[in-house]
Amino acid sequence: MVSHKIIPVGAYEANCVILWSGEDALVLDPGQDAELLLTFLSGRNLRLRAILLTHGHFDHVNGIPGLLEKNPDVPVYAHPSDWVMFGHPMNRNPPDYPGVGKPANLHDIRDIVKDFPAFCFEVLETPGHTPGSVCVKMGTLLLSGDTLFAGSCGRTDFPGGSMADMRKSLAALAKLPPETEVVPGHGPSTTIAREVASNPFIER
Ligand SMILES: [Zn+2]
Ligand SMILES: [Zn+2]
Repeated sequence: MVSHKIIPVGAYEANCVILWSGEDALVLDPGQDAELLLTFLSGRNLRLRAILLTHGHFDHVNGIPGLLEKNPDVPVYAHPSDWVMFGHPMNRNPPDYPGVGKPANLHDIRDIVKDFPAFCFEVLETPGHTPGSVCVKMGTLLLSGDTLFAGSCGRTDFPGGSMADMRKSLAALAKLPPETEVVPGHGPSTTIAREVASNPFIER
């Protein structure tokens, strides 16, 4: 059985999601507050096995160095189309978000499907907010990053963003089972049914 805990982190309140099965834990989008995340893990005797990223923006990655300091061998998974964002001068907001260099142990997030079979992951490639944006699906739970928000979607006016791609990505998400629970990269959770009914960015 896979459990999850949503922990909003940092000034941008990115929804970091901790996933665990047995003692194996994965941290998705550690945008800030590494100490808080490590305290949660140790409090439940969980072992950090990997860091997963829905995309490469600073408000989703800035907690990585703090996690790696205590767990130096842990791999980081992100879509290769967003790897260029590591260390990029545009992708930071000091002093709170000084930017994150390219992790030494960097993997393609599409490989989590085979590398962590206990989690029954699907990775949906959903470009638009960034070229390498993905949504991570586990059964009826969708971690949608900054692609789909409750009643909205992520901005497409950052470098590499594309409204045309965003519309295609949202159209693909709209075809998921209506009961799918959606945990966005910011803000409250929702469902595919609710978004298909009311999200103005989903064409119908
Ligand atoms: Zn973003
Ligand atoms: Zn964000």
